[in-house]
Amino acid sequence: MVLAELGGRISRAIQQMSDATIIDEKVLNECLNEITRALLSADVQFQLVRDMQKNIKAIVNLEDLAAGHNKRKIIQRAIFNELCKMLDPGKPSFTPKKGKPSIIMFVGLQGSGKTTTCTKYAYYHQKKGWKPALVCADTFRAGAFDQLKQNATKAKIPFYGSYTESDPVKIAVEGVETFKKENCDLIIVDTSGRHKQEASLFEEMRQVSEATKPDLVIFVMDSSIGQAAFDQAQAFKQSVPVGAVIVTKMDGHAKGGGALSAVAATKSPVIFIGTGEHMDEFEVFDVKPFVSRLLGMGDWTGFMDKIHEVVPMDQQPELLQKLSEGNFTLRIMYEQFQNILKMGPIGQVFSMLPGFSQELMPKGREKESQAKIKRYMTMMDSMTNEELDSTNPKLMNESRIMRIARGSGRQVREVMEMMEEYKRLAKIWSKMKGLKIPTRGDMNMR
Ligand code: GDP
Repeated sequence: MVLAELGGRISRAIQQMSDATIIDEKVLNECLNEITRALLSADVQFQLVRDMQKNIKAIVNLEDLAAGHNKRKIIQRAIFNELCKMLDPGKPSFTPKKGKPSIIMFVGLQGSGKTTTCTKYAYYHQKKGWKPALVCADTFRAGAFDQLKQNATKAKIPFYGSYTESDPVKIAVEGVETFKKENCDLIIVDTSGRHKQEASLFEEMRQVSEATKPDLVIFVMDSSIGQAAFDQAQAFKQSVPVGAVIVTKMDGHAKGGGALSAVAATKSPVIFIGTGEHMDEFEVFDVKPFVSRLLGMGDWTGFMDKIHEVVPMDQQPELLQKLSEGNFTLRIMYEQFQNILKMGPIGQVFSMLPGFSQELMPKGREKESQAKIKRYMTMMDSMTNEELDSTNPKLMNESRIMRIARGSGRQVREVMEMMEEYKRLAKIWSKMKGLKIPTRGDMNMR
C-alpha cells in the first residue's frame, strides 16, 4: 500500500527534525514542508494540507516552549492529532442495531467496488450474528444483478432483484419491503454506478434514497482516484445524505490519500476499507490506530489487546515494564518472537508492533518471515545468558559470532544479519523509554 510510503516519509521528516541539535523555526518549517510534499504526492487535497500545516504551526509555538520541554514529542503529537483530525469528521456514522431493520444504501461510481463491497459488508455482519439481505437496484448495468446474486449465493445471503423490471426505485422499495417482512435487520441496497458523474445517476440515486429512506448512505470510493476524490465525494454528498465512506482497493498501488479528501468532502467517517477481491478482505477502519500505524508508531490498542490475549497474565506487567524502560535486550527480542509466533495471524500482529512492521515481515511473505524468526531463535538458543541480557551490541565480537554460528549450525552471515535486525529494533524501542504505555482502551499515543 502506498499509504505506508506516505507514513514512512512523514516519520522520516519527524526523525530528521528530532536529530537536529536545536529545533528552531527553520527546522520545524523543513519538517512541515516535507510532510506537506509527502501528503500532496499521496493525492491529499491541497487545501487540507495547507490547513494542517497552519494548524500545527498555531499549536507548536516554539518561542513559548521553555527549554526542557520535549519539543519533538509536542510536534509529533500535533502532527498525529492533525492527521487524525483529517480522517475524523467529528461525528460517528449511524450504527445499525441488531434485531431492528436498518436500511443501508450504497452509492459510488461504476468500478469503484460497490457491488463487491455490499457483499463484504453483509458477510462481515452476518458473521457477527446479523441477518443481512441484499437488494440489487442497479438496473443500468447489464449483469449487475447476476454479479450480486452470485456473490450473495456464495455468502448464503438472501437477495432481491429483477431481470425485467427497469425501474430501480420500484425494485428498491419492493426489496426493502420483502426483507422487512422476513425480519432481516440489515437491508443493503446496491444502486447503479456510471463511468462518469452525470445528472441522471444523481437523480436516480436521489429517487431511490427518497423512496427507501435509508438509515445510512455509504459512499464507496476506489482508493486510486487520486486528486479527483474530493470533488467526486462532494458531488455524491450534494445529492444524497452520505453518512459514511468505504475506501476500496487499499491493497493495490493506489496512493490512498484520496481517502482523507473524501472524509473532508463528505464530513463522514471512513468505516471500512477493502483490502482485496475476496469476501473477507475487508477491515474495520479506526482513525487513531490507523494513523499510529501509518507513522510507524505501532497500534498500541491493538497491540495491548493482543498482549492481553496471548501473554500469560502473570508475565504482562513485566513485559510492559521492560518496554517502558526502553532497554531492548536480545532476550526481550527472543521473548517477543515467541509471543509473535503464538499470536497469529502473524502479519496483522506485526503491523501493530512498533518497529516490527514491513521490513521484518512484508505482507504476503508471512511464511518466509516466520521461518526467519525461527532461524533467529535457533541462533539465540546458542547464546550465553550474558549475551542475551546485554544491551551492548559491541559485546558480540567476531569470536562470539563465530561460536554462535557453529553452535546453531548457521552461517556467520546469518548471525550478523540477526544482530543487525536486533540493532534496528533496539534503536526504535529505545525511543519508548519513559513513555507511559497506555492500558487497554486508552489513547494510542501519548
Ligand atoms: P462496482 O461497479 O462499483 O459495483 O464494482 P465491482 O464491485 O464490480 O468491483 C469492480 C472490480 O474491483 C472487481 O473486479 C472487484 O473484484 C474489484 N474490487 C472491489 N473491491 C476491491 C478491493 O478492495 N481490492 C481489490 N484488489 N479489488 C477490489
